[in-house]
Amino acid sequence: MTMGNDLKPPPLTAGDALFLDFDGTLAGLQEDPDTVFLAPGLGKVLENISSKLNGALTIISGRDAEDLSGRVPTGLWRIGNHGLIELAPDEVPPEERASAPDAVSGAFRDISVRFAGTRVETKGPILALHYRQAPEAVAGIELALAEAGLSDAGYRVQHGKFVFEAKPETAHKGKAIARMMGTAPFAGRRAVMIGDDTTDEDAFEAVNQLGGLTVKVGAGDTFAQYRLASVETVHEYLKELAGA
Ligand SMILES: [Mg+2]
Repeated sequence: MTMGNDLKPPPLTAGDALFLDFDGTLAGLQEDPDTVFLAPGLGKVLENISSKLNGALTIISGRDAEDLSGRVPTGLWRIGNHGLIELAPDEVPPEERASAPDAVSGAFRDISVRFAGTRVETKGPILALHYRQAPEAVAGIELALAEAGLSDAGYRVQHGKFVFEAKPETAHKGKAIARMMGTAPFAGRRAVMIGDDTTDEDAFEAVNQLGGLTVKVGAGDTFAQYRLASVETVHEYLKELAGA
């Protein structure tokens, strides 16, 4: 990873395939993730852009697909669970979810008990340990997770904004995008990924390899080629295409 530059991205075009992260990209982060929603009118903007792109617009998130579908227009493509669940326009999320191996869920439970103020979220086989209420515990949690040896269970741990997530290797935003870019209506278009957090870096690497355009939202090291300062500047950038 390199120090990201501060170049403003070039304009989007009708020949693009857009992949947009949700939290911290389309909608501002909140203390309580349940209270994060699109700004009024933004859903309509996204639908307009999707029409311009012949449907090649996807919201790609670490949220569970069901949760994500309650926050964005369901007429859009949606990828939930960091790429594990892919929903076509108007497709309903499956009810069944795989679950994490006992070794992984047990380790997460134990660590959450050890560090007061942390909370475990289960998203099918993905487990998230939120520590926004206990930021001073970050080093201790990181060490405990490293000692838990989750890679033996085929899992990798990623550190995002006030969260550690344990995911099977298949839960990977970059792999999901590479798969989708091989099929209609995405194939043949320029892939564009906009995101703000650690798991988006997987997507940036994949889209860079595809010759696409990658945009990091906010500060921090990144593989992305370009940067937008905030959620508000993402909205302005998207609206340039919506209005074009
Ligand atoms: Mg995000």
